[in-house]
Amino acid sequence: MQLLDGKLVSGIIKETLQVEVEALQRQGLRPPHLAAILVGEHPASKAYVASKIKTCEYLQFKSTLIRLNEDVSESYLLEQIQALNESDEVDGILVQLPLPAHIREHRVIEAIRPEKDVDGFHPVNQGRLLAGLPSLLPATPYGILLLLEHYQIPTAGMHCVVLGRSNIVGTPMSVLMSRNTYPGNCTVTLCHSKTNDLASYCREADLLIAAIGKAGFVKADMVKPGAVVVDVGINRGPSASSPQGYRLTGDVDFDAVAPKCSWITPVPGGVGLMTICGLMKNTLKA
Ligand code: NDP
Repeated sequence: MQLLDGKLVSGIIKETLQVEVEALQRQGLRPPHLAAILVGEHPASKAYVASKIKTCEYLQFKSTLIRLNEDVSESYLLEQIQALNESDEVDGILVQLPLPAHIREHRVIEAIRPEKDVDGFHPVNQGRLLAGLPSLLPATPYGILLLLEHYQIPTAGMHCVVLGRSNIVGTPMSVLMSRNTYPGNCTVTLCHSKTNDLASYCREADLLIAAIGKAGFVKADMVKPGAVVVDVGINRGPSASSPQGYRLTGDVDFDAVAPKCSWITPVPGGVGLMTICGLMKNTLKA
């Protein structure tokens, strides 16, 4: 078993991004500028936004964090997005999800100019992805592609089984893996909570991508020997030994599954770090 090491690969990608920012500066151009909007006090959301801002600082991107109260009105949030859409100084906009229940997520996503939609969630970007046109790819699937590419995983002809059909991970991942590109050219099965005998599909997978949000869901007897396993899940479980009082685990029972795999991502240190790389590459592109 070998690790698909998100820490290592994200470090390499960040180095290339730094070189590109320096090249912009030499041409007298300003660095990329990411604006993030965080609504409320959701602990995981605060941690995700903080690490995105920290990465901007590391790369010498400009960043702006707009923090809004949990009870902010939808219309006020939309006004903030409009101002960022109109600013020539801002290249990328992200609104950290999930949003409070009184705010319609689709209205917020649709309000972001597609050219600045660095999370790749806007229907225009999702539609362009589906049509095989250039677009800003959703950051997590994009990060997974970068990881598979770095390790030159020979995906063509593989049976790829994706667990989870969300608009931000599972569904775009399934589309990308079925495209006639590299990484891609897989035969794809997309499973979800209504799939009958999901384990039987998993056992057929040469490439298994788990994105369901259920800690340790994928067990060793669900994995074909020699499979490539990508664990997207980030689940917080209690931990008396960690200073934060919690620890992160994936959707895959890593200790039991890893010995059966050819390649596997750890959690943490896998897809999460690659997602931030996808976001930063999108911001530079935007
Ligand atoms: P969602 O909750 O939006 O979607 C979960 C999907 O999993 C749904 O399609 C659901 O099916 C399916 N599902 C849930 N339970 C089961 C089950 N028992 N069997 C089969 N399918 C099931 O989640 P996201 O896609 O947003 O995120 C998935 C996981 O990935 C989470 O742990 C999240 O924290 C993590 N994540 C990690 C990122 C990273 O950077 N590493 C980025 C984004 C997410 P149905 O549609 O039928 O309800």
